Amino acid sequence: MTVTTQPVVTRRGEPAYDEALRAAVWQARKPQRFPDAIVRTSTSEHVLGTVREAIANRQRVSVRTGGHNFHGLAVPDGGVLIDASGLDTLSVDAASRTAVAGPGVTGLRLSDALDEHGLAFPAPHDHSVALGGFLLAGGFGLNAGAWGPACFSVDAIDVVTASGDLIVASEHGHADYLWAARGAGALFPGVVTGFRLALRPRPAIVRLHTYVYSANELPGLSRHLAAVLPDLDPAIEAVVVLAPGRVVVRVCAWAADVAQAAAIVESFETYGKDRVLHRQVLQPRSLVELTAMLYPPEARLRPEDRRAVDAFWTDAPIDEVLPALGDCLERAPSQDSRVLTVLHSRPATRGPDAVFSMCAPLNVEPSAVWSDPAHDDVNLDWSAAANAIAARYAVGHYVASADLTVDPSRVARCFGGREWERLREFRRAVDPDALFHSLP
Ligand SMILES: Cc1cc2nc3c(=O)[nH]c(=O)nc-3n(C[C@H](O)[C@H](O)[C@H](O)COP(=O)(O)OP(=O)(O)OC[C@H]3O[C@@H](n4cnc5c(N)ncnc54)[C@H](O)[C@@H]3O)c2cc1C
Repeated sequence: MTVTTQPVVTRRGEPAYDEALRAAVWQARKPQRFPDAIVRTSTSEHVLGTVREAIANRQRVSVRTGGHNFHGLAVPDGGVLIDASGLDTLSVDAASRTAVAGPGVTGLRLSDALDEHGLAFPAPHDHSVALGGFLLAGGFGLNAGAWGPACFSVDAIDVVTASGDLIVASEHGHADYLWAARGAGALFPGVVTGFRLALRPRPAIVRLHTYVYSANELPGLSRHLAAVLPDLDPAIEAVVVLAPGRVVVRVCAWAADVAQAAAIVESFETYGKDRVLHRQVLQPRSLVELTAMLYPPEARLRPEDRRAVDAFWTDAPIDEVLPALGDCLERAPSQDSRVLTVLHSRPATRGPDAVFSMCAPLNVEPSAVWSDPAHDDVNLDWSAAANAIAARYAVGHYVASADLTVDPSRVARCFGGREWERLREFRRAVDPDALFHSLP
């Protein structure tokens, strides 16, 4: 990233505006909302100056980093959109096992830097996801079963506040801001310009097992998974991807040696040896290699696609949830649509003081994926039908990917009751004039 002496301001009506707005949202389906100005920043001082100017001009402020929120939540109607993707400096201190990262650092860049030192972090699985919105929303990244949501490994933040100050928030000062930065997502009242991260030693072995079955196997496979789930080793990341006609189970095992890795994936090996259409075991030598293996070119999530995504936490039996969604997927108008389910072995809410407080054994994300805008209606109808099924089982939503625009109760259901009340009070106290736009 080139650091400019001044932020780059693009106002509505200027020639570069349409492109800046288009680039603000990662996916092809863009919100029909239009900020007055988009301000590309590359330092904390740029952000501070922009926020102070907005306060003086009584404009509302919104912030995006990677633009990967599926619903383009960062894009406001009117006001100023701060683009923080240019704040992408990164330094790693191997001795203290800490890193200082700008919000614009991607998971891939962080993993690349950590590989050099044999260190690790629960970084995003997809190489393109930026730390900014990922960490603020919780962040289910590498080895999340053992390391918890990535926001639990954030020790301090630099934040520009609604009063126009640049502060450091840690356990030792402004601790409420750190609490909120651990999971408030789009409801965080400030602009984070830097994160201090606690790093981990990298487990010696990472093994990625992939099993592909015919969709006909779903009932039997789901019953097997229901039996496996209560004893799932925390050092496993297990994901079930329903695709039209097939089911893919992907298990990533983090271990001290090959024998231990084999032991913790054993329960996945035992299902339907004679029925698996394809089985693959890979052993990446680095986090960067792992990231490439998790999303090989044919499985890459493509920004040129149109998407409707939602995210539900559920504690309902997996052998009820998956078959119901599998049936629905068979009626999907697009062969590219998917239902992603992440299995969690234990509640991921145990950790430091954090607003992150909503989770359950299954995170279910129905994703309608298509390319032609003429097919929007039919795909959105399917998305609504799939979401209605998932909603029947849901205890709450994951703030990173849930469609918070569906109805106002959605937002509250991203948090535990006490945490939601505390977040509302905190926002009122630190941003009484609602400078920070949070939701469309
Ligand atoms: C391809 C893809 C893969 C993904 N993989 C994962 C995954 O493995 N695990 C997972 O947990 N999630 C995943 N997600 C979801 C992702 O974590 C969220 O969409 C997250 O918001 C992305 O961060 P961002 O910076 O791009 O957010 P943006 O879309 O830029 O911003 C979203 C919201 O975050 C807030 N925000 C962003 N930056 C800042 C900042 N610097 N200061 C203050 N507030 C800010 C704003 O309120 C904004 O509205 C994935 C999404 C995609 C598209």
